[in-house]
Amino acid sequence: MTSLPLIPVDPDAPGARRASMPPQHLADLDLAGRKALVTGLGEPAFRARQISTHYFGRLVRDPAQMTDLPAASRARLADQLLPRLLNPVRELACDDGATRKALWRLHDGALVESVLMGYPDRVTVCISSQAGCGMACPFCATGQAGLTRNLSTAEIVDQAVYLAGVAASGAVVGSPARLSHVVFMGMGEPLANYNRVVAAIRRLVAPAPEGLGLSQRHITVSTVGLVPAIHRLASEDLSVTLALSLHAPDDELRDELVPVNQRWKVSEVLDAAWAYAARTGRRVSIEYAMIKDVNDQPWRADLLGRLLAGKLAHVNLIPLNPTPGSRWDASPKPVEREFVRRLRDAGVSTTVRDTRGREIDGACGQLAAAEDMGTDPAGNLSA
Ligand code: SF4
Repeated sequence: MTSLPLIPVDPDAPGARRASMPPQHLADLDLAGRKALVTGLGEPAFRARQISTHYFGRLVRDPAQMTDLPAASRARLADQLLPRLLNPVRELACDDGATRKALWRLHDGALVESVLMGYPDRVTVCISSQAGCGMACPFCATGQAGLTRNLSTAEIVDQAVYLAGVAASGAVVGSPARLSHVVFMGMGEPLANYNRVVAAIRRLVAPAPEGLGLSQRHITVSTVGLVPAIHRLASEDLSVTLALSLHAPDDELRDELVPVNQRWKVSEVLDAAWAYAARTGRRVSIEYAMIKDVNDQPWRADLLGRLLAGKLAHVNLIPLNPTPGSRWDASPKPVEREFVRRLRDAGVSTTVRDTRGREIDGACGQLAAAEDMGTDPAGNLSA
């Protein structure tokens, strides 16, 4: 049994780790906050809108390209509003260039990753909300390394803005050029960095130049089930999709697979999910990693079916991604098919997630941010 992790439900509480947070960036602030900052620098307020239009509207991040800003104040404004947050370490591609993983070094040396996935009808980025993760799920590469720190709002947003720029450059062949979807399924437990993640969502959905102008319905926030934070998210008046990483329908197994279950049991977590669905009208996505001989038995499919039947829920089965040295393996395909059949027979909408990014360790549970990932045959790519 894995011991219960520490859960910083309120990361802004006294004692929460702040020392290594990055410098303030315009994406940390709403437009009013940016105006206050630039006027404090002795610049006219409209400069905030100009620089925000570059960043969010045109996806321009290089101050040298912001030629409508007077040369005399450009460097000072860039210094205060656009400090470099993400230093690219490498970018890898697979799936014929439709999947790209970016590894970043943050200002304090922490490493995080994001993944860009192109589909014929949409472009999705999977972003990280923490460097590492404190939730200690034993089958997850990220969870093995523990939590380094929470990301700032701008560090979260900047991953999406950067990769939106990659998509806009036409780099994802066969997909639209405009980023449309964001999933908080990279490194970290988003709801353990609650305030910054919610602020990041507000930046992502606000129309340019305040934000990136994405649809709320195209944003998915995953959680292992921090019950108070799920209730809090439901009260935010945001119609984002909640993805609940359930992975087991019974407490005995979930206590082991998702240690936070020792604090909030399956029934409490599902009750919170149904409250979220009722409040937002959004179908909850139930994430379930299929792990060979661990959680893939027919009786567990039947139990899951009984828990979810008649609820506003969709099951997303995830073929487990192998991690080096792990004792966990993916369920065989026939076992997976039987699991799907039983859930559907129970009336539960169920799909199996594609395994995008597996070749570059960019799939769920593989984001470990090791610099020595090895050389990918695709080599380094720059945006
Ligand atoms: S599965 Fe998610 S919540 Fe669990 S350790 Fe990995 S990143 Fe953290």
